Amino acid sequence: MKILLVYPKFPETFWSFKYALQFIKKKAGNPPLGLLTVAGLLPREWEQKLVDLNVTALKEADLKWADFVFISAMAVQKDGVRELIARCKALGKRIVGGGPLFTVSWKDYPEVDHLVLHEAEITLPRFLADLEQGVPQHLYTAGLEEWADLTQTPIPRWDLLAFKNYNAMCLQYSRGCPFNCEFCDITLLYGQRPRTKNREQVLAELESLYNQGWRGGVFMVDDNFIGNKKELKEEILPAMEEWQAERKFPFCFNTQASINLADDEELLKSMVRVGFESVFVGIETPHEESLSECSKVQNKNRDLIASVKKIQRHGLQVQGGFILGFDHDPPTIFERQIEFIQKSGIVTAMVGLLNVLKGTKLYQRMEKEGRILAESRGNNTDQQINYRPKMPWESLLKGYNKVMTTIYAPKYFYQRVKEFLQEYNPPKGRKLHPRLYHLPAFFKALFIIGIWGEERSYFWRLIGWSLFKKPQVFPLAITYTIYGFHFRKVFLEQAEPERVPLTFPDTSPV
Ligand code: SF4
Repeated sequence: MKILLVYPKFPETFWSFKYALQFIKKKAGNPPLGLLTVAGLLPREWEQKLVDLNVTALKEADLKWADFVFISAMAVQKDGVRELIARCKALGKRIVGGGPLFTVSWKDYPEVDHLVLHEAEITLPRFLADLEQGVPQHLYTAGLEEWADLTQTPIPRWDLLAFKNYNAMCLQYSRGCPFNCEFCDITLLYGQRPRTKNREQVLAELESLYNQGWRGGVFMVDDNFIGNKKELKEEILPAMEEWQAERKFPFCFNTQASINLADDEELLKSMVRVGFESVFVGIETPHEESLSECSKVQNKNRDLIASVKKIQRHGLQVQGGFILGFDHDPPTIFERQIEFIQKSGIVTAMVGLLNVLKGTKLYQRMEKEGRILAESRGNNTDQQINYRPKMPWESLLKGYNKVMTTIYAPKYFYQRVKEFLQEYNPPKGRKLHPRLYHLPAFFKALFIIGIWGEERSYFWRLIGWSLFKKPQVFPLAITYTIYGFHFRKVFLEQAEPERVPLTFPDTSPV
């Protein structure tokens, strides 16, 4: 059997880091971990090829070669999926679809021959067994509350991947999140009880990346890395620390976690010792009523800025997610978000408009209230919404633009970078991971931002300050100037007049 695994194209988003990646000559941030894991579940004797359309083109010869084309995608890749399906169908290829997009919206894809939904550890073996018997079905789903045992998950097939195209590799330790935020589809897809891989599996995955020659960044893709704190602190992190130390810290890590990470000093210290450098935290909003509305209980009744600063002081950079468009957002929310972001020193602030993802509790509520206008495009930073907001749409869009143009304006952005770097001290002994491509990236930054950029005066002031006052943060200062360059470009592109405002038939306030 010949299997072609294809990862559809992502649109340019805030998180694509397209303009930042160009500085280091990388084509994508991370590889398609889901497909690589699926590859590990397929019979070893089958021939397999992986094509990630974000780093390479799909040749007709590859399509012709394949007996089956496996596609996995997220909602944001919808357009790429449609294009890919059309190409496969034109050549009469049989398609197997899986992953979050198909799991939630499978009814929209009747042309996909076999929909192998939910977690592949459960449904893929059933499909393979039927295929062997010559009776493959159209639809494979897991039962209600039927979740995969991650201790059975194979090591991703790294041998199918060209490492050089990516900025960081991926590792998944857990699935599921103990919280249940109204807008989030993670508990829908993976449940509320965090399921984890064991210590030996995590070490084996690190070892396999190491043996394939990878050095540098590893993104722990868990939606909430600290879902099972006890196991992390007692087993996983100590084992990772020992593994890293024995090999002189070949990897640095980043991940995603809930804000209660700030409450656990031991966990913070342990993560930093392992080599974690940054963590994405869903802050969402400083407005308490909006936090109640979306059931973000872990963010309520706490000084969110103090929590962020505490994580930063321990040596972790904090990236933050923020949402505008909650029913309880007051007209002052835009100013408050700006003030919060500036004070927190969160340099990478991903501010999005609320989008209602299919299947979520929010979707059910909005549907009952007759407020769903369209299916979400899975991108909450492209200045579009898919529901009727409480606030007039024009005010919401104007406010959103105000937040974005302010926080990424050179003056405010560089102020925030300095606010953060002044307080931040990289942990002693932290290993830098210089690569050959960092040197040209540095000169490119000097040239593109320092000479041609509208932000050049801020750039040189930051460079001067970090070189003379705090040289240990100089590499990070350069990195942030490149991030700022990317964010400004993406925002301006998405704000092109022909792309906004999106006018649904009725975006009048409820
Ligand atoms: S904490 Fe994060 S992953 Fe967990 S339910 Fe909330 S938004 Fe989703």
